Amino acid sequence: MGRIGRWATLVAVMAAGMLLVISPLACAPRHKPSPPSASTPIVRVRLLVARDNVAIRAALAPTVRAFSEKQALRVNLPGTSDVALTLKDNRWLIGGVPIPGGGVLTMWQADDGTVSINGRTYRGRFRFIPAGGNTFDVVNDVDIDGYVKSVVPRELLKSWGEEAYKAQAIVARTYALYEARTAGLRRQWDVYPDQRSQVYGGCQDESEKSRAAVDDTTGVVVAYGQLNHERIFKTYFSACCGGVTQSAADAFGEAYQVPLSDQNLHGLCSAANNYNWGPVEISKDELTRRLRDYGRRRGRAERDMAKVSKLEIQLVNRFNRPIRFVVTDTNGSRFSLTGEELRNAVNAGTSKDEPARLLSSFCKVVCDPTNETIRFVDGHGNGHGVGLCQWCSEIRSEAGLRHEDIVLSAYPRARLVRAY
Ligand SMILES: [Zn+2]
Repeated sequence: MGRIGRWATLVAVMAAGMLLVISPLACAPRHKPSPPSASTPIVRVRLLVARDNVAIRAALAPTVRAFSEKQALRVNLPGTSDVALTLKDNRWLIGGVPIPGGGVLTMWQADDGTVSINGRTYRGRFRFIPAGGNTFDVVNDVDIDGYVKSVVPRELLKSWGEEAYKAQAIVARTYALYEARTAGLRRQWDVYPDQRSQVYGGCQDESEKSRAAVDDTTGVVVAYGQLNHERIFKTYFSACCGGVTQSAADAFGEAYQVPLSDQNLHGLCSAANNYNWGPVEISKDELTRRLRDYGRRRGRAERDMAKVSKLEIQLVNRFNRPIRFVVTDTNGSRFSLTGEELRNAVNAGTSKDEPARLLSSFCKVVCDPTNETIRFVDGHGNGHGVGLCQWCSEIRSEAGLRHEDIVLSAYPRARLVRAY
């Protein structure tokens, strides 16, 4: 019996009494993914890292193919209970039943959202990529619009305006495409499913409003450059700028770009919850511990610093937003950090409920050499404050601005172009 014939008859009885049947696919020998339109770009989301198993459930039978094989196989999974996908000695097992071949395992859904991975459903296909030992990463290859439909509702409040939703859809689409065309070129995936890129939770996160916003703006991205030679850029956005944005150059040390320069919004988003915050207090001992920890993780000089003696603003931008801080330790050594580096150092390893956290680096510092406590006061905004401010967008949406104008006001001298 040939290999395919052997697998065609493979039947395993599941513990739950359900049947798992793996059979060859009746159609063409090579199964190809079928994005909604041939020209819609795919974004590859790394959902899970170095897992030794994931729980799979399928309402409709998906097809799978290991990299070494030509033939895709249909897998009838029980639709009402989970089955484990595992990797043992380079062989894939679904519910304990081996799948022929080795290497990356690709799974195509019969229809979007019919396969759940660890309880969540997604559009597009899945790739299970061996990651050493018997572990594997899970990557979801999804068309960019399907991806953005899930991302936008996690970024904005449900009650916010349609134009704010459309603006965010354009910005989220551009951000993901930029990542795919830069960092993604060097790896088998493009974006994280969390705040390191954008929060992505699959089908369950989509809303009517986000689907409409994405469909109404399909293909539209933000770009910058000479007419007809525009290029997309990393369209940073954050929750609340606190009235003044900072440039990507100041915040992240990137090359200066006009669309990502600093802007004075003159308190446009002052209705936001976190427009004003503080004071936030932290002891010098605790700040020292966090700075050393940050230095250790980043390979920076702060790891060997003596106790914090003083913290001061070193530099502000042209609209008086602090962009650099300097820490002096008890030995007199000075350590200069950008605002975002300081915020990351202070917040690293803390939970959202931790009171000693900085919502932004847009604040003043009260630091008395004789006092054991440092106070961050007169704080404004939430997030890094680069690029589009979501609260400013919503205020503009409420004021009747169209999404095109909302996006372009956030990125000076940028243009909207069609990417597909
Ligand atoms: Zn703002």
